[in-house]
Amino acid sequence: MKVLLLVFLSLSFSILANDHLMKKDGFIEVQKVVHNYKIAPWAVLSNKNKNLFQANWPFALSSIGHTTASYQQYGWDKYFHHGLDVRGEAGESILSATDGKIVNIENYASSDLYWEVAVLDTHGFLWQYHHVDKNSIPQKIKDAYSTGASIKMGDKLGEIVYWPVVTFGERFNHIHLNVLDKNLHYVNPFLLLKKLDDRVAPTINKIGLLQKGKIFPTARIRGSYSLYVNSDDYVLHSKFKVPPYKISYFLDDKPERIVWEFKDLPGGSDNEKYVSDFFQERTCGNYDCRKFYINLNFNKDKPTRFPTAKGSHSIKVVVWDFASNRAEKSFSWTVY
Ligand SMILES: [Zn+2]
Repeated sequence: MKVLLLVFLSLSFSILANDHLMKKDGFIEVQKVVHNYKIAPWAVLSNKNKNLFQANWPFALSSIGHTTASYQQYGWDKYFHHGLDVRGEAGESILSATDGKIVNIENYASSDLYWEVAVLDTHGFLWQYHHVDKNSIPQKIKDAYSTGASIKMGDKLGEIVYWPVVTFGERFNHIHLNVLDKNLHYVNPFLLLKKLDDRVAPTINKIGLLQKGKIFPTARIRGSYSLYVNSDDYVLHSKFKVPPYKISYFLDDKPERIVWEFKDLPGGSDNEKYVSDFFQERTCGNYDCRKFYINLNFNKDKPTRFPTAKGSHSIKVVVWDFASNRAEKSFSWTVY
């Protein structure tokens, strides 16, 4: 019995995760990575507990480089960014956002840019800090990983690694911060961190028709179709576009319908699932291009159908950022 118990306690669990990786020659790709953790997360986010958390930012951030919702395509694979790129200076200390235990220290890909330090917080969420400079991880953190000793909010986990890429005119030094719940679903870290002073509302650039996955050039259409919204937002920056946090619309005189709110990912633990259903053609997300064309028929179960009755129709689209800044815009079209 004793032996069995020991075996049970020493079980670790593994998860698959994606991150954007870069080879030395500058080619960017995505790889599947298996992480091994000492202890599994046990928390789930609910409406009850989602406002309880006011975790500290790991350092005085300069901006948010990408959000959970951000579209990413560096090579062939497309995926939701699934965490936050929190930008700071290379060499800046990364302080644990929460109390907890160190459950992983790992070089999860083929270069030293990809070191993870993971903390299981006292509520049961798993925090993955990526792009930690491996030489900066304190002995105290390594010891806490091997002994299971607890760490405190504010304890230094390491320093931000120097990032070899300049994008939109700025060196992209950052940590990639993921939060996972007990189902290993990606939870939006914004929900658990102190609110940022973000007063810039998202912008709606254009609303239009889609047919067979292509942007339709006019506002007169027949047959089945959908609509898109081209929208973007900034979080403490003027060039790093991110998608809106929440998208909804009012169609004709019908009640509001929420397309998606990025409390979590539509695919839960799968950051590739639904990405091509949610984002339409002309969407891009890499070091040179950021454009977001969101399909308003997006629905996890089956795409929403827009009216095919002849005549004119109208839609009011509303987008929000996480700080509740919003924008709205209307569009009318004719079915003939
Ligand atoms: Zn990232």
